[in-house]
Amino acid sequence: MLTVAIIGAGFGGLCMAIQLEKAGIGTYTVFEKADNVGGTWRDNTYPGAGCDIPSHLYSFSFERYGNWTRRYPGQQEILTYLEHCAAKNRINVRLNTEVTALAYENGRWRVSTADGDEFFDIVVSAVGQLNRPKFPDIPGRFDGPVFHSARWDHSADLTKNVAVIGTGSSAAQLIPPLAHMARHLDVFQRTPNWVIPKPDAEFGPLMRQAFHYLPFLQRGYREWLYRYGEGALFPALVGGWSTNLLRRRALAHLAAQIPDPELRARLTPDYPVGCKRIVIDSRFYPALARANVSVVGAPIARLVPYGVETTDGRVHATDAIVYATGFQTTEFLMPMRVTGRDGHDLHEEWKSGAEAYLGIAVPHFPNLFLLYGPNTNLGHNSIVFMIECQVRYIMGCLRLIRQRGTMEVSGGAMTAWRNALDRALGRTVWRGDCRSWYKTADGRVTNNWPRPTTVYQRLTRAPKPEAYTFGGMF
Ligand code: NAP
Repeated sequence: MLTVAIIGAGFGGLCMAIQLEKAGIGTYTVFEKADNVGGTWRDNTYPGAGCDIPSHLYSFSFERYGNWTRRYPGQQEILTYLEHCAAKNRINVRLNTEVTALAYENGRWRVSTADGDEFFDIVVSAVGQLNRPKFPDIPGRFDGPVFHSARWDHSADLTKNVAVIGTGSSAAQLIPPLAHMARHLDVFQRTPNWVIPKPDAEFGPLMRQAFHYLPFLQRGYREWLYRYGEGALFPALVGGWSTNLLRRRALAHLAAQIPDPELRARLTPDYPVGCKRIVIDSRFYPALARANVSVVGAPIARLVPYGVETTDGRVHATDAIVYATGFQTTEFLMPMRVTGRDGHDLHEEWKSGAEAYLGIAVPHFPNLFLLYGPNTNLGHNSIVFMIECQVRYIMGCLRLIRQRGTMEVSGGAMTAWRNALDRALGRTVWRGDCRSWYKTADGRVTNNWPRPTTVYQRLTRAPKPEAYTFGGMF
């Protein structure tokens, strides 16, 4: 039996474990650093947290669920779904166990945790791209509560003056409830986002019954949502037919929700739509238009003990600061030390930007596979689809490993992949003039998949043995 170490128990790690459990190919251990499964949906408990991809698409194709209460799921609902998937498939997870290092030694992987070292034939990393909060480097000191959106301090008193730094997707979700809670809310906006409406709605009892008893309805709805993402949203990311439509949709949404022309001007982006992750939210603009909310456009100079000082010399007094400043997204697999064949250091190999063949395999790192790795994030569809493609591919790799021994992607396959990827990325809007979490400081897009997901699905249908070299037998 092959032994597989899976690192992380979010969507990726659970999907891998469930498929291994179903196939009975190998024994596996899921390592999870936190105290529960769920990944990002366990970590992000800020008020208003939820997903802007519809529930029926943001879920496993093999684990349909009759309990979705609304079109767009809230954080707790997604966490419950993932707990349900883990329990139903009897996935054992070693909780509170962080993997600190991986080292390839004599054809096997040494997996190090605080409990000691264990050896596995195969390692699957499922640590995600949005798991390490990014705190901005703002000088000074503030004396009240300060915390990140992904590490919400539920004990903080947010009924007085509150400052939120950032206006990305997380901020857009947490600002509306905070605006209701706080006496005054200062929103520090560095760059406005393109925002489109989120047509959320509850599923009434009849609809839920229909989804429950008519599986073809769920399948058809999911298929429609998926095709909409591919057919209507993706073209906008490569300058296709829907670019102007999307731009006009966002501007109309802004005009409808922000009557004040001065505020509207400050909320209008000056870079191509889709260059940064589009915010999908219908409650964000109305919250910004409230009398107790100020959108501060002046750059932040420093923190002072009782507030935030901007470069125009104004001090914005506040009682609490929320950093909605995103994640360390381009440093894949950090802070794990990963040492491959012949002492190759993964982070050294990736010092000018992370890359992997199909986003899954890396030369010099045999039998190491990545889920949601470099260049597999999406700006237009459900990441769960990509994870399922990757898991199916890795299952194919496991079958090959059983027949032919350890497998390592060749340098030639990696070069061909890099060149094709680079050509496709060149056609996308992400290379445009904007700052985003999709790219490194020097502008290399390391996070996103630049083609339709149907292409990715085709490319990952089964591993091509000619792209790999095979080593010793198990
Ligand atoms: P984000 O999109 O990276 O946004 C970070 C925000 O913080 C930006 O507005 C950024 O401004 C601002 N910022 C960063 N450093 C700053 C500084 N020093 N001073 C002032 N502002 C600063 O992070 P996020 O909102 O947490 O979202 C990350 C991703 O998580 C999303 O894009 C999405 O993929 C995912 N997410 C998804 C959902 C969902 O519903 N599916 C919900 C939440 C998050 P600049 O724009 O100027 O850099």
